[in-house]
Amino acid sequence: MTVWTRLSERPVGQPVPWHPVLDHEPEQAFDDIARLAALLCDTPIALVSMLAENRVWFKARVGLELTDVPWEEAICPYAVDSPEPFVVPDALFDPRFAQLPTVAGPPHVRFYTGVPIAVPRGHNSGLICVLDYQPRRLDGRQIEGLKALARQAAALLERRADTEQIRLAGERWLSAEAARTTQELTIRDLEERFGLLFGASPIGLAVVSLDTGGASRLLQVNRALADFLGYAEDDLSGASLRSITHPFDRRRSQILVADLRAGGDQFDMEVRFLHRDGSPRWGALRASVLQDAAGGRARMLCQVVDVTSRHRYEELLGRAAHTDFLTGLPNRFAILEDLTGILEDPGATGGLLLIDLDGFKLVNNSWGHAAGDDALRMVASRFSDVVGRRGLLARIGGDEFAVLCHDLGQSAGIELAEAIIGSLTEPILTAGQEMFLSASIGLAWTSDGDDRPGVVLENADSAMGEAKRRGRARWELFDDHLRGNATLRARRASALRAAIQGHQLEMHYQPVVDLDSGRVVSAEALVRWNHPEEGVIWPADFISVAEENGSIVALGGWALRAACSEAVKWGKGGPSVSVNVSARQLADDGLYDVVAEALERSGLAPGRLILEVTETAVMEDADHAVRVLRRLKSLGVAIAVDDFGTGYSSLVYLKRLPVDKLKIDRSFIDCLPEDAEDAAIVSSVVSLAQAVGIQVIAEGVETEAQWEALLALGCDLGQGFLWGYPLPAGEATARFTAAGPLTGRAGFGLSPAPGFLSSAQD
Ligand code: C2E
Ligand code: MG
Ligand code: MG
Repeated sequence: MTVWTRLSERPVGQPVPWHPVLDHEPEQAFDDIARLAALLCDTPIALVSMLAENRVWFKARVGLELTDVPWEEAICPYAVDSPEPFVVPDALFDPRFAQLPTVAGPPHVRFYTGVPIAVPRGHNSGLICVLDYQPRRLDGRQIEGLKALARQAAALLERRADTEQIRLAGERWLSAEAARTTQELTIRDLEERFGLLFGASPIGLAVVSLDTGGASRLLQVNRALADFLGYAEDDLSGASLRSITHPFDRRRSQILVADLRAGGDQFDMEVRFLHRDGSPRWGALRASVLQDAAGGRARMLCQVVDVTSRHRYEELLGRAAHTDFLTGLPNRFAILEDLTGILEDPGATGGLLLIDLDGFKLVNNSWGHAAGDDALRMVASRFSDVVGRRGLLARIGGDEFAVLCHDLGQSAGIELAEAIIGSLTEPILTAGQEMFLSASIGLAWTSDGDDRPGVVLENADSAMGEAKRRGRARWELFDDHLRGNATLRARRASALRAAIQGHQLEMHYQPVVDLDSGRVVSAEALVRWNHPEEGVIWPADFISVAEENGSIVALGGWALRAACSEAVKWGKGGPSVSVNVSARQLADDGLYDVVAEALERSGLAPGRLILEVTETAVMEDADHAVRVLRRLKSLGVAIAVDDFGTGYSSLVYLKRLPVDKLKIDRSFIDCLPEDAEDAAIVSSVVSLAQAVGIQVIAEGVETEAQWEALLALGCDLGQGFLWGYPLPAGEATARFTAAGPLTGRAGFGLSPAPGFLSSAQD
C-alpha cells in the first residue's frame, strides 16, 4: 500500500532506509534522545516516531502508553517533510487536528512540535516530537535543542544502514573462507570488498576476537575508531577491548560480550571508552557476531558512534534541571531527590534545615528586584561558606534555602543553624544600600516518623514558622511540642469559623490620646476569643491561624461591623474607632463593599472610622495596596499604618501612600527616653511624617517618662497601658459616654483581665 503525505503528496515509509530499526527492541540511544527532548522542552510526552506503511511507530517514547497510531490519526505525517519544526500551538483549535482521537479524547493532546530526522539518502521517515496536554510554545533554545537531537538521531540511523552493509560483507567473506569451497579469487574479492568498506566507513569499526577464555582483542580497527580514541590504527591492533573501555563500564561490557560468546546475536549499549589522553568518550556501541558458514562465532564486529557531545549536553541539562539559576545552588528537586535517597536507605538518617529570610519580600518592593536578586546571591554565598562540606545547600524558593545533612546530630544541627544565622550579622551591601537581613530556621529529621520527603520538608517548615512567630532571626526544632502545636493550630483553625458565627468573639477597645492634653481622640478595636473550654484566647494565638486558613476575611468583616455599631453608641462627637485590617483582607476584592456596608448599616460617620493596615501588609504588594487604599479613602474613612518600623518600607514611600496616620511600633518606644538611637528614629519619623501631613501615634506607651519624651520629640498621639488597657465594649462605652472630660487614665485599665499584661507583652 502506498500512503501519501498530506503535505507533499509523496510516498513515504517504504523502503525505510535504516534497516534494522523499525519494529525492533527499544534502544538506549533513542530512548535517551526522547528523554532529553522531554527534559529540554519540559513536556510530559516526547517521542522518536517513525513513519511506516500505514502507521506511525514509536521507536522511543516518554510519557505515552501507545506504541503506534494509525497514519490517519497522527500529526507526524504533516510534519515529516516540513523544512522547519512543525508547531501546533493548540491542536484543539486547529481544524486539521481537532478531531483526532488523541486530541478529542485521551490523552487529550493540545500541543505538538515535530522536527524531522533528515536523512541524506531516501525520504525522511522519522521525527523527534514533543507533546503537551496544554497549549504552549517553545523558545528558540528549545527548538535549537530539538534540531540538534534530530541530527543525532539522523547520524545514528545513517550509520546504522552503513554498518549493516559492512557486516554483511564481512560475514560473506568469513563464510567463504571458512568453507574454502569458493575459489581463492572470490575469497580475496570478498576480503577486499569488506576491507574497503571497513576502512572508508565514517563510523568507528573494529573486528574483535571472541575466543572463549581469552581476552577480547581488537584484530582490525578502522581509521574512524582510531581517531575517536586518539590513536593511530596500528597502535590499537592487538589491544584488549578492556584496555579501551572506561573502568566504570568494563564490568557491564564484559557481561554483554560473554552473552555473545554464549550464543547471543548482538547487543547495543552506550559505553564510556578511554581516549588516549585518559578522558572518557561516550560511544553508542553495537556489537554483533560475525558468523561464518559453519556457524563459527570467533569474531564480532563492533560499531561505535561518537555520542560524547550528546552526553555532555545531557549532563548540562540534567544539571540545569537541578540547579537554581540565580544562585547556581542546587534547587528544590535536587534536595528532594537526596532526601528520597536517605529515606529509602534503611541505614541512613538525615537532618534538614529550612531557612527563610525574614521579611525579604519587602527588599524587592523597596529596592527593586535587581537589588533583591543581588542580595539573594550574596546571602547564598555567605550560607555556602558556612555550610561548606557539612551538607547540601539548596535554594528551594524565592527567599527560602535548605540544607540537608547526612547523619546530623541534634547539637550539630543547632550549631549549624546558629552559624547560618550568624552569617547575616554583617549587613549586605547592594545597590548602594546596607541591608540588614536575618533568617529564621526550622530543623527536622528524617527519623521524625513519616517517610515521605514532602513531610520532612513540611515539618521543617512548621518549625521555621514557629521561629518566625517567636520573633524571627532564630531557630526552632520540630519536636513533640510543635507536632502538638500543629494539631492545636489545626483544631483552632477549624473551630474559628464556628466561633465567628457562634458569638464567641468579642471586641475590646483601647483609648488613643492626644499627647498634649491627654484627651481620648479614638479607640482601637482589639478582638478576643472567649473559647468555651480554653478560656480567653489572645489575637496573637489565632489571628495568624485565621490568616492562614482565610477565615480572617469573615472575622475582619465581623470586626468592622461590631466596631462601627459600637462607636455609634459613643455619640456624634465621640472618639473615632480604629479597626485592624489584615493583609489577606487587603488583597480581598470584597473589602470595599464590606467597609461601605458596615458604615451604612451602623450609620457611623465615615470620618470616624480608621482602618489600620500593617506596614508589612502594605509593602507586600505596594501598588495593589495603593489602589485599594485610595478607593477606601474615597468612602471618607482614614487610613493608619500600623507597627511602623518593623518592616522595610522607606519613609520616602509614605508619600505615595494615601495614609493619614502612622503608628510607630512599640519596640521603638520601649527604651525611651534612655535609648538615644530610638529617640533619633522617632524624631526623624515624626518630622518627616508631619512634613507630608501625616499624624504620628506612639504605640505601647507605659510610663510617664515615655510620655514626656514623646511630647518633646513632637509626637502627636499615644496609645498604651499608661492611659488604659483594652476594655470590653460595655465598659469602654460607659467610659466614653460618662460626663466629664474624657481623658486617659480616668477610669481605664482598672480591672485588666487576669494574665492579660503578661500575654500582651509576649
Ligand atoms: P496592634 O494592632 O498593634 O494592637 C496593639 C497591641 O498592643 C494590642 O495587643 C494591645 O493590647 C497591645 N498594647 C497596647 N498598649 C500596650 C502597652 O502599653 N504595652 C504592651 N505591652 N502592649 C500594649 P492585642 O490586643 O493582643 O493584639 C495584638 C495584635 O493582634 C494587634 O496588634 C493586631 O495586629 C492583631 N489584632 C487584634 N485584633 C484584631 C482584629 O480585629 N483584626 C485583625 N486583623 N487583627 C487584630
Ligand atoms: Mg493595630
Ligand atoms: Mg500595632
